Amino acid sequence: MIMHIQFDNTYARELEGTYVPWQPTKVPSPKLLRLNTNLGVQLNLSMEVLNSPMGSAILSGNEIPAGAMPIAQAYAGHQFGNFAPQLGDGRALLLGEVLGEDGRRRDLAFKGSGPTPFSRGGDGKAAVGPVLREYLIGEFMHAMGIPTTRALAAVWTGEPVFRERPLPGAILTRVAASHLRIGTFEFFAAREEPHQVQRLVDYAIRRHDPQLTDHPHQYQEWFRAVADRQASLVARWMLVGFIHGVMNTDNTTISGETIDYGPCAFMEAYDPHAVFSSIDSQGRYAYHNQPHILRWNLARLAEAIAPLMNTVSGKPVVDPLVEVLETFPARYHDYWLTGLRKKLGLSTSEQGDDALAEEWLALLHTQGADYTLAWRYLADAAEGNVRPLQAMFHEPSVLSLWLKRWRMRLDRECPAVHSTESSC
Ligand code: AMP
Ligand code: MG
Repeated sequence: MIMHIQFDNTYARELEGTYVPWQPTKVPSPKLLRLNTNLGVQLNLSMEVLNSPMGSAILSGNEIPAGAMPIAQAYAGHQFGNFAPQLGDGRALLLGEVLGEDGRRRDLAFKGSGPTPFSRGGDGKAAVGPVLREYLIGEFMHAMGIPTTRALAAVWTGEPVFRERPLPGAILTRVAASHLRIGTFEFFAAREEPHQVQRLVDYAIRRHDPQLTDHPHQYQEWFRAVADRQASLVARWMLVGFIHGVMNTDNTTISGETIDYGPCAFMEAYDPHAVFSSIDSQGRYAYHNQPHILRWNLARLAEAIAPLMNTVSGKPVVDPLVEVLETFPARYHDYWLTGLRKKLGLSTSEQGDDALAEEWLALLHTQGADYTLAWRYLADAAEGNVRPLQAMFHEPSVLSLWLKRWRMRLDRECPAVHSTESSC
């Protein structure tokens, strides 16, 4: 029973020279650990086949379904600020693209499927712990409505991978709007191949921003669209206390989806300087730095596409790209404040909302309150039950002052229902 998946391989077909055709390494005894039935159905895949031994063979890379064209994509990246000219899929393979029942195109890719020409001495494998972690956190982000790559499946390979100690090996099947990242463009920009950069941008526009195809300033508008999606994404992270941990340019997507759940975490006690990654000793990717790092990463993308801009006296005119970068903080702030207003129960805007939100966050910090629970208990406070929130604060009196101001602000939301105890 060979599974019929309707693959379309636009990346492999249209972007020759940006990848290496490659095959997954066979594994001894694949066993399905977890299958994402909801996602599989959305992608028009047969759950019956994927749940069968043939499904485990496919999801481990032992059987390549007809129509798939496995490739290892080339990309570079700034890692912790330093440029690595060649990263690429060292332990991943793009199997191909599928169209979901919503008509949207998505990549199906393996992570942990064995070494490739981009492995740089690595084993190309993944351990079961990080695979299940990526699966779980991706699903959680999706459930919260935050754009993310998702896992279709996790399989046990039946062989160990060797880290500090032997660990059970696993392969993740990842579903993504695409695997284009800032690093994909940097790879060819660094090799001074603007023609390849242009092919990639044209492809990215067709795939993610087709309305720009005939736009007279399509490259700068595409850059604006990428910046906008990422500004919205990182604002969503900040609102739920998510710290990505490795915001390198190779982990910043063009689609605006969260990718690569490595040493990421959700903050507990609110601390703007929180870092969870042991390799981030300088705090480069600390919680409060994320929007700044995103802008820095976008500046690397601007540099990569600068040669595509119109030229005057032989020099590219980069002002429109600079303008996007200069207005980025305000754009990000808008997304962030809009989200915070919602969390505070406000549906209208007032000048002082910014300060009200900032003061709440400052209180959480000085009082050492848990970020997620504080918001949850604020909802209880809106309904008149202040005790759980008060119990989180060392000094309940400072909370009372802030709550008073918050309630006055809530009252201005719906003056008809005047209440000092509850939100509207
Ligand atoms: P990541 O940390 O997963 O974003 O990966 C960064 C780069 O390191 C990418 O080029 C990966 O393909 C590569 N990489 C990470 N782990 C391995 C591994 N075990 N074997 C080969 N390449 C790897
Ligand atoms: Mg990565």
